[in-house]
Amino acid sequence: MDVINYDESRVISTFPVIVIGAGLGGLGAACQLILRGEKVLLLEKHNVPGGFATSFVRGRFEFEGALHELSDIGTEHNRGSLYRFLERLGVVPEKLKFTQVPEFYRSVFSDGFDVTIPLGLEGYTEKMIELFPSEKQGIEKFIAMCKAVLEGIKYIASKGGKFSPAEMLKEHPWIPRISGLTLSELYKKFFKDEKLKALISQLWGYIGLPPDRTNAYTYIAMLIFYLEWGAAYPIGRSHSLTTAMIESFEERGGEIRYNSLVDQILVKDGKVSGVKLLNGDIYLSKAVISNVNPICTTMKMLPQEDVPDSYKKKIFAPEIGPSGFSVYIGLNASYKELGFTAHETFINDLYDANKAFENFTKLETPKYMVAACYNHIYEEISPPGTTQIVLTTLQMGKLWQNIAPDQYFNLKDKIADGMVSLVENTICPEFRDYIEVAEAATPLTYYRYSKNLEGAIYGTTQDVTNGPLLRLKSRGPIPGLYQVGAWTNFGGGFSTTILSGRIGAGVYLSDKIKGRI
Ligand SMILES: Cc1cc2nc3c(=O)[nH]c(=O)nc-3n(C[C@H](O)[C@H](O)[C@H](O)COP(=O)(O)OP(=O)(O)OC[C@H]3O[C@@H](n4cnc5c(N)ncnc54)[C@H](O)[C@@H]3O)c2cc1C
Repeated sequence: MDVINYDESRVISTFPVIVIGAGLGGLGAACQLILRGEKVLLLEKHNVPGGFATSFVRGRFEFEGALHELSDIGTEHNRGSLYRFLERLGVVPEKLKFTQVPEFYRSVFSDGFDVTIPLGLEGYTEKMIELFPSEKQGIEKFIAMCKAVLEGIKYIASKGGKFSPAEMLKEHPWIPRISGLTLSELYKKFFKDEKLKALISQLWGYIGLPPDRTNAYTYIAMLIFYLEWGAAYPIGRSHSLTTAMIESFEERGGEIRYNSLVDQILVKDGKVSGVKLLNGDIYLSKAVISNVNPICTTMKMLPQEDVPDSYKKKIFAPEIGPSGFSVYIGLNASYKELGFTAHETFINDLYDANKAFENFTKLETPKYMVAACYNHIYEEISPPGTTQIVLTTLQMGKLWQNIAPDQYFNLKDKIADGMVSLVENTICPEFRDYIEVAEAATPLTYYRYSKNLEGAIYGTTQDVTNGPLLRLKSRGPIPGLYQVGAWTNFGGGFSTTILSGRIGAGVYLSDKIKGRI
């Protein structure tokens, strides 16, 4: 029944805990464990760490694979919690430096409305009031609510997640109040102007759902984190963040094996007993922390008779979120000549984000995308006199699963071409003339590289039924198994995914101390 017969001659070694996958979730878990003095083995199927957090070379350009801007870093005098974690690890300031994004974002709409929004609570509030003076009162109340949510988050963090619901209701009522609302429902309490709502909602692509569907708490938490701690980008791209984390992990005695695809999680007497790689190698362990998405972990890596049906229902209940479609472009001109005046420019064909989202469910040119111009914050990211731009939009991965191979490249080119035209119509009419290298990535590309179902880049959707308080938690379906990454806890994104790993590691440590495994 429970006994797995494995070939003992294939056992390589035994570790107290094994982490599968060196994506940001796995790295967060492995580094948290090593800080707590645990002996850890990290197994990664690729020959580099990072998962989505990676870079690649085309021509004379090394492209950032995913990261636009990182939240929760802050400055030396106002350090975010991610910065403090990296500091404890010895990643910053020794191994890694950040550059700060000077402005929040530029928003460009196809009717010519073009505005740059500053970072920082004061500057942001003043700008919104300057643009929408008739909404002054609502804007001020909205900002006061955002600050109250931040205080609530700080309270939850100070209690290590174990807070009293009664105290929360009394002292921080905004968190429970907005957790069950969509962003559109929340807006109704503060303002009427649709243009103002569109401008405040510009970051909706970072969550993957439009205001009519996105969980208000998730959105407000992200917004207030950017306003409080700013936005940063690692010098050396996200690859330098992940390699610095690995370096610190190894310096503290952690072991990582690349090119190690885990095929099975071994179970004995209903508990985790190790892992088996595709090449047959076996590592024994009483605990496994999986950064592989929970559906694959549960349905492909575990013996099915050990998984309770209730857990299967839980992982299949939420909707799978969107994947990405990106065009990575190297231009043989300076960004200053091309008219890119901000690091992050949102390009909108519509004010109604809910309608723009409908396009992600069709194989069409998007009506909302973001152009990240890295040279604006990091001049040396590409050779002198050149510019690195990444155009990113979202697409539901399911759409791409049944495309015939002979149609795939045409479709990919058509959508990429439409995205380039959007830039020409709004920012730089002669953009195409300067393109030296262009490479498009579709949901299939993201699936092939990461093996996340449907190429989902943020895991399951963050709607009201699947917000931070309701998402899949770290404990897996059998004792000794923990789940981390974008599909769990606070959802996708760099800082939240690293945090999910740290939370998963914490739950494992607590179970170990209490003798549960
Ligand atoms: C184009 C793009 C732009 C983005 N922009 C931003 C942004 O600006 N800001 C932001 O915060 N977030 C952004 N994100 C989202 C963010 O990158 C992801 O949410 C996050 O990286 C997910 O991390 P993860 O650890 O959950 O998963 P993954 O990155 O998928 O990591 C999983 C790891 O497990 C490994 N693995 C899988 N199966 C196995 C196996 N069987 N055995 C061993 N190893 C295995 C994989 O190789 C991988 O290394 C972006 C993502 C994309 C694609």
